This record gives sequence, structure tokens and C-alpha cells, in this order.
Amino acid sequence: MIFRQLFDPESSTYSYLIGDKSSGAALLIDSVLERTDQTLQLIKQLNLNLTLAIDTHTHADHVTGLGALRDATGCKTMMGRESLANCLSNTFVDGDHLKVGNLRIEVIYSPGHTDDSYSFYLHESQSENNQPMLFSGDTLLIRGTGRTDFQNGSAEDQYNSLFNRLLKLPDNTLVYPAHDYKGWMVSSISEEKRHNPRLQVNSRDEYIALMDGLDLPNPKMMDIAVPANQSCGDIV
Ligand code: FE
Repeated sequence: MIFRQLFDPESSTYSYLIGDKSSGAALLIDSVLERTDQTLQLIKQLNLNLTLAIDTHTHADHVTGLGALRDATGCKTMMGRESLANCLSNTFVDGDHLKVGNLRIEVIYSPGHTDDSYSFYLHESQSENNQPMLFSGDTLLIRGTGRTDFQNGSAEDQYNSLFNRLLKLPDNTLVYPAHDYKGWMVSSISEEKRHNPRLQVNSRDEYIALMDGLDLPNPKMMDIAVPANQSCGDIV
């Protein structure tokens, strides 16, 4: 496989380009509208053909490039079934597999940050370094977890997504989140189990109390980003 991690410094968003070497088919996870030209340039330079673009959830802090990428390449666009976006080729649900050439990526429903949050798992046999890879959106961040106080977020759902789903993946799974604000780029399930302060709780109730006590301001771009992202990045 071909793998690239891209960073948007404005919103501290990571986008991920995953290409299948044998067919040239490629997937982009969590694109940023303002980075579209650079992303398309990279896809071209790597001789890839973008066949699918997906978002892990409806973002409140940046505008997606889903629509712009679709217009430029004809790629399919997908999000989870719970998404309110009105412009998708199709939706996915828990247990689906996304096909990118010969690669198969497992879809894991991981609500909590939003009710349309999904994670994506690439088995070690398909990964470039024989380690499984998890694209965890804002469900599991590096040394943190995504806030749960808007967009139908739920600390209880997030606890279940973390402790009953993502943390049960193999310990050596590499974790690639949707954002990082401190310069971390990649982690692993075992590293997060041991060092993520949000995961050092003894019960579901303790986790809910921790998340309920955060009292965070709304993201700067929320009022623009959420409606724009429900139309795949068309700013109205
Ligand atoms: Fe988010």
C-alpha cells in the first residue's frame, strides 16, 4: 500500500491518503477544502486514482473537501448512515468493508464525539509495515478523546466505543486520529491504554463525569462548518 499523512495547520486536521499499489486506486479520509489543490497534486504525483473520499464524522472545525474532490476526480463520497449530508454517493454502517482496489478497510461505528462518528481499520496483512492501522477520527485522539458536548455527542456512547470496540483491537495497532494540537502524529492502542489520561478511569460513570466537566468553548468555525459539511463542503 501507499500511505501519506497530510496536515492542515489552520484546523490541526490530519487527512490520510491510502493507495493500493497494484491497481492505483486510492482513498482519502477527512479531507480539508482549502487543501484540495495540494491533495490532488499529490495524488497525481503518486500515479494514484482517487476512487473514494470519506469523512469520519460531520466536522465542526473545518470544511470538508468531499464535494471538491468528487467534482475534480469523479470519486465516490461516503459517510456513515447517521450523517445528515445530502450529497453522498452512499453511506456505510458498522461491519461494512470499503474496497479500495485490492485493499479492504473495515468500518467500525464508534459514536460518542458525534452520533455519526466512525473509525476505519486496516488489517495488518494489508498494511505497509505489517502492523494494523486504525483511523480513529475524533473518537480516540493521541493522549485525548474527542469532546462529546454537541452534535448529538454522548460520553456514554464514547465510553462504549472506546472500551468495548477500539481498545479491544490488537495492542500493536497504529492509531491515526483526525486531529492533533500538540504535534503528535501517530500512536498505538497499547500506548494509549497506558498513557492516555482520559482512559485511566475505573468505570463508565467516571468517564462520563470527566467528559461532563470539560466545559469547552464552541469551535470558531462551527456555525459555518456544520451546514457546509452537510452539503459536502458547499459554503452557502
Ligand atoms: Fe470532530
